[in-house]
Amino acid sequence: MNILIAEDQPVTALYLRRTLEKMGHSPRAAPDGEAAWRMIGGGEFPLLISDWMMPNLDGLDLCRRIRSSRIGRYVYIILLTSLDRREDRLKGLRAGADDFLTKPPDPDELAVRLEIAGRILAVHDRLELQNARLAELAATDELTGAKNRRRFREDLELLFAQARRQDSPLSLILLDIDRFKDYNDSFGHPAGDELLRTFGALLRESVRGHDVVARYGGEEFVVLLPATGAVEALEVAERLREAVAGRDWRHRPVTVSLGVATSDAETQDESALVELADRALYSSKQAGRNRTTHAARLGLPASLVR
Ligand code: GH3
Ligand code: MG
Ligand code: MG
Ligand code: MG
Repeated sequence: MNILIAEDQPVTALYLRRTLEKMGHSPRAAPDGEAAWRMIGGGEFPLLISDWMMPNLDGLDLCRRIRSSRIGRYVYIILLTSLDRREDRLKGLRAGADDFLTKPPDPDELAVRLEIAGRILAVHDRLELQNARLAELAATDELTGAKNRRRFREDLELLFAQARRQDSPLSLILLDIDRFKDYNDSFGHPAGDELLRTFGALLRESVRGHDVVARYGGEEFVVLLPATGAVEALEVAERLREAVAGRDWRHRPVTVSLGVATSDAETQDESALVELADRALYSSKQAGRNRTTHAARLGLPASLVR
């Protein structure tokens, strides 16, 4: 286990390091509370053994700071104390400590206390893992494995703001399967579902890891391409269109129409970007389907730019 030792006395710090290393742990030491605080922010230490009296930031304040902060994980805190009075223990517990060790720490007691810490931390890890899984499930469209519309909205908002901050382009591709109602009518709803599943997988396989693929509605999908300009986005869209048209589908050939929009400093907000892609998609449908249109090729309505 990665263990952080906050201790201003080099002798005690060294003794603890050696003892913990012998037990198979990976300890690192910080000479005061401030240094410990900086190191713990990275989230790599599930366990902190902290001295009470230290310069800069003492053990109590370090506890309080950790408990009131939003470090991504739970930090189990053992306070080291030469004071063994009831009031001190209460103070330590109120500040957020999980356990105490009296100085100088007895190796057997240390080992047992670490076992307790390990049990508690294992429960926390399991919960965090389950929460992450649930969050993924809640953000995923069950049928196609793409992100759902809610997650798409969140990602769009984030990526749009990021693009604006970094003065970099964000591209958005809207895809709508051609004549899908007819496909359902001809081959049945389950076959339509199967097509949607395959379509979603194909999209996810065809883009980069940090691109976002979401199901926008029934047979409409959307792909977000961060840091991607118009020319590159058009290439991606065309590649997707060709991958769909060129695939050997089960019942009959399938095609898709696409609308692409790219944000620049003029794009009013993220809704305007969606609206632009939607207009481009409409244009692709009007022009006969199985094609890609970039919004920049249409006359830009003044209402969608600043
Ligand atoms: P266009 O080329 O103009 O896009 O024609 P279209 O038939 O694809 O468009 P339309 O919007 O008329 O039809 C979309 C169809 O998608 C209608 C709806 O029943 C079907 N659909 C929506 N969600 C699902 C789904 O989850 N499963 C299945 N099998 N069909 C769905
Ligand atoms: Mg001290
Ligand atoms: Mg549609
Ligand atoms: Mg359609």
